[in-house]
Amino acid sequence: MNDQRRNFLKKTGLVVLSLTVAEQALSHQGDTQSLKQSKNGENLVVESGPGRLFPLVHHHHELHVPIAIIFNPPAEGITLKTTLAWALHWHTVILTQQQLLAIRDQGEVVAEDTVKDHLYRIRLTSVRG
Ligand SMILES: [Zn+2]
Repeated sequence: MNDQRRNFLKKTGLVVLSLTVAEQALSHQGDTQSLKQSKNGENLVVESGPGRLFPLVHHHHELHVPIAIIFNPPAEGITLKTTLAWALHWHTVILTQQQLLAIRDQGEVVAEDTVKDHLYRIRLTSVRG
């Protein structure tokens, strides 16, 4: 991601901050995405960046990435669905084996859903501790 892009996302983020509740604003301050582990510890839970196709309808999705898949990525990769958001829509995110290996080996990959609406920064940091 180049600086121009990052600045754009930051500016977008600032507009968003003024529109959303404090809790949500805090989770996005300084970062368009946050990361945590699911309760059962089996998935990385990645919050998407804001939608880009319809910027006036601000929304995010969660993407649950099975941790086992990251450490043993299948040749065909994995196809994941996001959680539901505004108007009950969801997105499909396809992670290739190469992307899964990059998450494992480099610790971070920024993926897109198939319609290029949201970015998903998938990081292993919190799992490695
Ligand atoms: Zn969406």
